[in-house]
Amino acid sequence: MPSVIGQQIKIVSADGAYLTTDTGARLLDGTASLWYANIGHGREEMAQIAYEQMKKLEAYHVFGRYTNDRAIELSEKLRSIAPFDDAKVILNSGGSDSIDVALKLARRYWNHIGRANKKVIISREHSYHGLHAYGTSVAGLDFNREGYGTDSLVDGTERIEKHDAGAFADAIERIGAENIAAYIAEPVMGTGGVHPPQPGYFKEIQRLCHENDILFIADEVITGFGRTGEMFASTRYQLRPDIVTFAKGVTSGYAALGGILVAPRVWRPFFENGADSPTYRHGTTYSGHPVTAALALKNMEILERENLIARSAALEEVLTAELKALESHELVKTTRVGGFLGGIELSDKVNAEFVTDKIIEHGFITRPLRGNTVQISPPFILTDQELRGLVRAVGTVLDSLKAGTP
Ligand code: PLP
Repeated sequence: MPSVIGQQIKIVSADGAYLTTDTGARLLDGTASLWYANIGHGREEMAQIAYEQMKKLEAYHVFGRYTNDRAIELSEKLRSIAPFDDAKVILNSGGSDSIDVALKLARRYWNHIGRANKKVIISREHSYHGLHAYGTSVAGLDFNREGYGTDSLVDGTERIEKHDAGAFADAIERIGAENIAAYIAEPVMGTGGVHPPQPGYFKEIQRLCHENDILFIADEVITGFGRTGEMFASTRYQLRPDIVTFAKGVTSGYAALGGILVAPRVWRPFFENGADSPTYRHGTTYSGHPVTAALALKNMEILERENLIARSAALEEVLTAELKALESHELVKTTRVGGFLGGIELSDKVNAEFVTDKIIEHGFITRPLRGNTVQISPPFILTDQELRGLVRAVGTVLDSLKAGTP
């Protein structure tokens, strides 16, 4: 493909792990779009299920007394695969929605059980939690918080260093446990540069949450639905979250859907007094949308039928070996893998944005992340050979840069 430096790339069609541009170039999708095209692109049966559902019932809201079969089936399915027992489900339209509802619910929970001071949300530097006001405020990417004339769009947010459980203990000491509602983290930090958890980190965080009555929220928007070789990364990393946020992989991107899974500790107080219980007033126009729900159900059927979660685990091993081999390259500082998610941190001598542009010219899409890191997170349907080809293309580009012939 000719140089793409500074050029827009228009994708006109896609099938499996490949994308076709308006100039006819065929590119391997090495990032599964924005970490979501897990079952691959262009599946006929996904189009078919959307068509059938649209013919029958394209949409009707689920406010008040209304519901529909697909929303019920999807909620049941999600309850059956949740990383904890007896989950309740709130559905919405994407990851940022999910963050907003999870953090609102955390505050609403403490308020409802009579501890209204517990409002502060603690998160990690370099984390990404979407771009609604709450997500922008808690996320640790300062450039997204700039330009609003205030440090944080929503009050009461605090960020701590990403691998440092001691910093959490210090924050609790400083802010006071009586003022803290929740701690939120991505099990594997994605946009911040692909950072898997350090051994023991979440164990200590959870101990502190437990000891100090702080809710633990796992943001599984990227990691949910098989990306780390388990349905949820919470299972893989032995997390016991009170709330899980999800989106992306729930439909593999065939429709905009997100939601949260809520553990009994948090939902129970809202159901204790029968008709006198307070209503948790949250919902969006497309919550429980039957077409997106039908697509999510079909997506999960495909994941199961084709054993794609086991495949994701197998691909993680290939990725780990390939990235290890790349570490000896003089233009690579280090590499990281957490599930079928890889990051190649480049040396200061090269720039990830430039390198990813060059990789496109070789027919592969990767993406620059924070910290001069190249993102590798392809669909789960890749062959081992295709994955090796992708990582080796990164090596080829780095070799050409080393030799001064980009
Ligand atoms: N949380 C995490 C961990 C994400 O990576 C993202 C998006 O990349 C979001 C939340 C926001 O999701 P959305 O872009 O669907 O609103």
